[in-house]
Amino acid sequence: NPLHLLLLLAMCSLCRFIQSPMETVSLNYLKATSFDFDGFSNLQESTSTASLDFGRLVFNFPCAVFRPKTPDDIATLLRFLSASPSSKISVAARGAGHSIHGQAQARDGIVVEMDSLPSSITIHKPMDGEEGGFSYADVSGGALWVELLEESLKHRLAPRSWTDYLYLSIGGTLSNAGISGQTFKYGPQISNVLQLEVVTGKGEIVTCSPAKAPELFYAVLGGLGQFGIITRARIVLQNAPQQVKWVRAFYDNFQTFSEDQELLISMPDTLDYIEGFIVLNENSLHSSSMAFPSQLDFISELRKDPSKVYYCIEFAVYDYRTEKFSTEQAVEEVARKLRFLRPFIYSAKVSYYDFLNRVRMEEMSLREKGVWDVPHPWLNMFVPKYGIHEFKNLLLRSISHQQFEGPILIYPLLKDKWDMNSSAVLPEASTSAAESVVYVVGVLQSANPSLCGSACLIELLGRQRQLAQAAGGSQIGAKQYLGHQPSPSHWRKHFGGGWERFADRKWRFDPACVLAPGQGIFASGR
Ligand code: FAD
Repeated sequence: NPLHLLLLLAMCSLCRFIQSPMETVSLNYLKATSFDFDGFSNLQESTSTASLDFGRLVFNFPCAVFRPKTPDDIATLLRFLSASPSSKISVAARGAGHSIHGQAQARDGIVVEMDSLPSSITIHKPMDGEEGGFSYADVSGGALWVELLEESLKHRLAPRSWTDYLYLSIGGTLSNAGISGQTFKYGPQISNVLQLEVVTGKGEIVTCSPAKAPELFYAVLGGLGQFGIITRARIVLQNAPQQVKWVRAFYDNFQTFSEDQELLISMPDTLDYIEGFIVLNENSLHSSSMAFPSQLDFISELRKDPSKVYYCIEFAVYDYRTEKFSTEQAVEEVARKLRFLRPFIYSAKVSYYDFLNRVRMEEMSLREKGVWDVPHPWLNMFVPKYGIHEFKNLLLRSISHQQFEGPILIYPLLKDKWDMNSSAVLPEASTSAAESVVYVVGVLQSANPSLCGSACLIELLGRQRQLAQAAGGSQIGAKQYLGHQPSPSHWRKHFGGGWERFADRKWRFDPACVLAPGQGIFASGR
């Protein structure tokens, strides 16, 4: 309704006009003039939810929340706003709101709640005799990966590439990369997409793929929400295994640990998942260790010297229950080649669904203890192989071993599984070697307010900034993943040689800089 859009524009402009350093002023004003029409709402309940994310570090209140029913609704809004640049009202798509630094927020702008689009998942299987055909799913952008898993499993199919946690939206992870233990084999989630439907910042609805409108397709994948809103994605599927043989092996030497991880990623024909983590204390073994009750032997080893740091490799072999292949035998053969601390190797056989959904167990346990909804000063980095030792040393010097709560993931990926046409940023090639191995390091810290108040949190974030800055230098050459940069000039540095292309894509698809202001990449004044 054009009248409603004009009314909204007036409300939001007024809200910006009276903006003061105290956010509550605009909030109080809006509360006094509440509205709820045509899917738009500024009722406090909606705007407060939209000002929250998993990080609990940044809280920007939007002027309104929009709950579209169709991609057309989003297109109408974006057409209207991009044609009125003086309004300076920005728009952020919000998937599951699991960002850390307010990336899905829009201060005094409009948050589009993607879960309001009807969730639709259609599974396509190739017809008998269809040449070169493979299976895929067409899924709406606001659907969660766990919903796609549940639907595709009904057809004994599943996506190939995952994130560790499944309660994230399709559009949200495709705007970043989407990585997990399968990435070494199939690339990130953005390498497993055949087609997208996108509403650009100009309000055009475009179906794009590597063959059709490829510039928009690659821009949006890993594009941090800057170019368009993903309303549908076509995701490659594979046959789903029934069970998974899941293995953990422990090390006390980083060199051996990382060499063994690199050996494992050279075995994609046998292995289906490879990750790893640093063991600082008992908390590091997190509750997915329920799957590994006998790991208690290792815990008593850990207690002998609390200052000692250990490392754990996790790998998995999918069990398709074929006669030709025994997962037990495969694991034995692989384990024989590894140099872990004997006898500390543990294995479990779990259903494929439980394996993929393992972080949910962790979530439930943390929720029970009341420590899920706490600040999460997370730092994720891609570190080239040549810098990983130095980075690990810097990291261990920057954290308190006994007090650290949360996992520190560390595992290698292969750069050549990434399509460099996408907008995702990986470390640039070093001058010495065109290395393909890049490590993911996820420092996934929880800051329980009863143990770490605001001064402590500020200190943690400061140390993290220093670590990220040092790691970005030429000696380590790391790049942040899912990160926040303090200014547009830091973003330029982050994109490095890819900046021109990224900025050009912005100019083409969202010239009025309406979209995803929470990333802070473009100083648009919106
Ligand atoms: P949101 O936080 O809602 O949005 C993120 C960004 O994407 C925002 O800029 C938003 O505007 C934009 N956006 C959202 N939806 C769309 C859309 N439809 N179209 C265009 N832009 C959109 N990441 C990994 O890669 N691997 C992991 O293993 C992993 N594990 C995680 C575990 C937990 C517990 C958490 C909290 C996060 C994890 N992440 C992981 C990070 C996660 O992938 C990103 O934070 C992702 O953005 C979350 O998706 P979301 O739907 O919550 O996105």
